[in-house]
Parts: sequence; structure tokens; C-alpha cells
Amino acid sequence: MATIYYDSDCNPDLIKNKKVAIIGYGSQGHAHALNLKESGVEVVVGLRPESSSAHEARESGLEVRTPAEAAEWADVVMMLVPDQVMADIYSESVEPFLDKGDTLMFAHGFNIHFAAITPPEDVDVSMIAPKGPGHLVRRTYQEGSGVPCLIAIHQDASGEARETALSYAHAIGGSRAGVLETTFKEETETDLFGEQVILCGGVAELIKASFETLVEAGYQPESAYFETLHELKLIVDLLFEGGLSWMRYSVSDTAEYGDYTRGARIVTDETRASMKKVLEEIQSGAFANEWLAQAREGAPFLKEQREANRRHQIESVGRELRDMMPFLEPKSAP
Ligand code: NAD
Ligand code: MG
Repeated sequence: MATIYYDSDCNPDLIKNKKVAIIGYGSQGHAHALNLKESGVEVVVGLRPESSSAHEARESGLEVRTPAEAAEWADVVMMLVPDQVMADIYSESVEPFLDKGDTLMFAHGFNIHFAAITPPEDVDVSMIAPKGPGHLVRRTYQEGSGVPCLIAIHQDASGEARETALSYAHAIGGSRAGVLETTFKEETETDLFGEQVILCGGVAELIKASFETLVEAGYQPESAYFETLHELKLIVDLLFEGGLSWMRYSVSDTAEYGDYTRGARIVTDETRASMKKVLEEIQSGAFANEWLAQAREGAPFLKEQREANRRHQIESVGRELRDMMPFLEPKSAP
């Protein structure tokens, strides 16, 4: 059984005796900064002066300085900027201010595991990675619960790296839900695999391909949308509550029979071989190198795909249908 820490395993005071810089104020940054502050921790947010988030952070009662000023002031620096620009921000604004005994923290292992960032040996390097988006890290904290987190220690120079990281997890609400011990390697590789193969890449392609199959066969796009996208949430909720068996217990016997007989014709031996190949590209660092090189060129492929995918029929059909369901509080990408 994995090691999982809860509130009673954490010392809430350790992090209250440190000055914490949160670099970045996006999805994770705003949630960590506000939760820490409300837990009684001294926090400064590090942002470029021209950042559009600086005003928002100040409106929420947080102190904002430049990343370099925040890092210089802090004992604990949490890096919450996009992974593809993190190494540049680190070398320019954080590294010069890391003193012996400081703590450098991450919410994802990418830059440490792929050695884009190599911290000095006399600082602690740890990870508290919430297993959920930032707005949930914030909302669940306010509701008195939390999002489960992963903890990993890359360097323990002080001998207290784990206790400090657990105290941080406690302050953002993570130990209310559980903090699972892992390594930078395991977190990074499983996180990338999950988002590529199932959570983002795999699911998006299954949705598009099944939608297109129905529409090309002459069915109404609205029917196809309900079937291949909308209803997925109902199934995922069942999986979340009680696993595959609970989902199969809740659907009809007809659906369950179709699942066992047809599912493996969709995810075939060829698909499984592709999954292995994708995992190998992650493990070898080939994916990380490809993405960082793309990012340095301004991520043209990412931008082109983002535009093309926004024009897909399933998006316009979905927008119209969601507008008819105001109780869903429809959202659209900016
Ligand atoms: P984000 O894109 O939402 O926000 C990043 C913030 O960084 C921006 O809002 C901005 O304030 C700042 N920023 C951007 N470019 C900058 C620059 N050049 N210089 C200085 N500041 C800059 O990022 P995020 O999704 O919160 O991700 C932060 C970290 O958390 C990443 O390591 C990510 O892997 C990890 N993480 C994210 C999630 C998630 O759900 N989003 C979940 C777990 C872990
Ligand atoms: Mg993830």
C-alpha cells in the first residue's frame, strides 16, 4: 500500500515560520497563494510588473513583487509558471537568490526530472502536486475539504524537506484529502502519459472519431453530441464513485454486453502498442525535448491545432446545445 499522509501527519507551524514566494498567478498560483495566506502563512506573489494577473492578485489582498524580488525575500519558492518557460524564469529570477537552507518547490516534476533546472546542492527541492485544477484547489479549501496531492523529495539538504513540504500541503488543504508519496520520475512520467493517452489526447480523439462516425452516417449532429460528449460526464461520474464495476452495474445489461464484446475492438493490440511507444518517448526524454523546442519557437503547431480544433463541428453544435442548458453554467474558451 502506498504511503499517504493526512492532516494528523503534518506540522502546520513549519510553513508559518517561513516566507513563501509563489511565482506565477495562474490556475495553481492563485489557489496556492490565497489558501496559504488564509492558513496564516506569509506569502508574496512573484509576477512580471506588466503581468495582467498582478492587479487581480493585489485585489485579493496579496502582496506582489517581481519574481526576483519575491525569490530574494523568500525562504520557500514555489514555481507555478508554465512548464515550458519555467527554466528561463528560474535561471533569471530565482537561482541567483537561492541561499543554503532555502526550499525550492514544484507542482509538477517536468523541469527537474528532465534536468532543465538543476538546483544548487544546499537547498531542499520538493514537490506538492495537486491532482486537480487550481480552481478546485481553491474552492475545496474554502469549503473545508481539499484536492489530493502528490509529494516527492528530490533533494533533502536540511533533513526537513519532507516535513516542510507536508506543512505546505496542509496549508493549501491537500492533506485533508491525502498526500501520496511518489518520486519526481514517477509523477512526471505518469502525468504526461495520462494526459497524452487518456485524459486529454485519448479522450478527445475518441470523442471526435465517434461523433464524426455518427454524423457521416447521417445521424443528427445534436444526437451525436449528446451521445459522444455530453453523456460521457454521466459515465465518468459513475467511474469516479465506484470504479468500472459500479458503472457497469448502473448501465443496462445491453450496454454492459456491448462494452465487453466491442470495447476491445476499439482499443486494439495496435492501440496498446502505440501506448507503449508514447510511454517510451516520455521515458527517453524525446517528448520533453520536442515540446521545449516547439515552445522556444513560439509553439506554432500548438496554436494552429488549437484554432483548427475550435472550428470542429462538435464545438459549434455543443455551444448551441449548452446555451439551452443554462443550469450547466456554460463555459467557453477565451
Ligand atoms: P498557468 O498557465 O495557469 O499560469 C501560469 C502563470 O504564470 C500565469 O498566469 C502568469 O501569472 C505566469 N507567467 C506566465 N508566463 C510568465 C513569464 N514568462 N514570466 C513570469 N510569469 C509568467 O499555469 P498552471 O496551469 O497553474 O501551471 C503551473 C504549474 O502547476 C505547472 O508546473 C503545472 O504543470 C502545474 N500543475 C498544473 C495543474 C493545473 O491543473 N493547471 C495541476 C497540477 C500541476
Ligand atoms: Mg496533470
